[in-house]
Amino acid sequence: MSTVPRPQSAAALRVAITGGIGSGKTTAAAEFARRGAGVVDADAISRELTAAGGAALPDIVGAFGPDAIGPDGAMDRARMRARVFADAGERRRLEAILHPWIARIAAARAHEFASRGTSVLLFDIPLLVESGLLRTALPPHRILVIDCPVHRQIERTIARGALRRSEVEAIIDAQAPRTRRLAVADDILVNDGAAADLCARVGRLWDAYAASAPGVRDDTA
Ligand code: ADP
Repeated sequence: MSTVPRPQSAAALRVAITGGIGSGKTTAAAEFARRGAGVVDADAISRELTAAGGAALPDIVGAFGPDAIGPDGAMDRARMRARVFADAGERRRLEAILHPWIARIAAARAHEFASRGTSVLLFDIPLLVESGLLRTALPPHRILVIDCPVHRQIERTIARGALRRSEVEAIIDAQAPRTRRLAVADDILVNDGAAADLCARVGRLWDAYAASAPGVRDDTA
């Protein structure tokens, strides 16, 4: 990997990490966090917004009706997933509600990390390429793509247990194709071997990021 240019007058190096479902984003992000990166997780924010009492629920009920909420008071994720995968217009409507919230909360968390002196911030944004989240108040300095063959994405996601093969395939079809993600990448980590190989690759990239971010401390050293 080439050297990473030092960001001009930024408090922290902002790296957006993306990849298709099952590519290994969460695994890679956890390894970066272990080494001292601050991780802002868009999926986790989205789950908070749609949990019982979540801030986005009133707008979701307004747009999709009371059926959008399950008996536990949270958004019925399985039902909404089926609805938005069946209809691109419905997907855009849900995204139009959630994305502005996610962008605001992500920016607030980034400021919190930066105020604690964290020098490398990782934004874990599964649909970075598909959504408008690149054009937020905090555009990333680097886009990191976790890449692996599609059959591995399917294998790993099925092994995780929550989804059937047909559901995983439908999700992959709705996501940006691999070539489109790779076209926007500044850095690529290939996750086609053992998880330990991915972590070793993360370590080498962390060194490059840390070298470009003034004041960063390697907690594993
Ligand atoms: P994503 O966040 O991109 O959906 P995860 O990091 O959650 O992907 O990985 C999907 C599943 O595959 C997880 O259960 C993870 O532990 C497993 N996994 C990730 N990378 C590897 C690998 N190189 N070898 C084997 N299993 C892996």
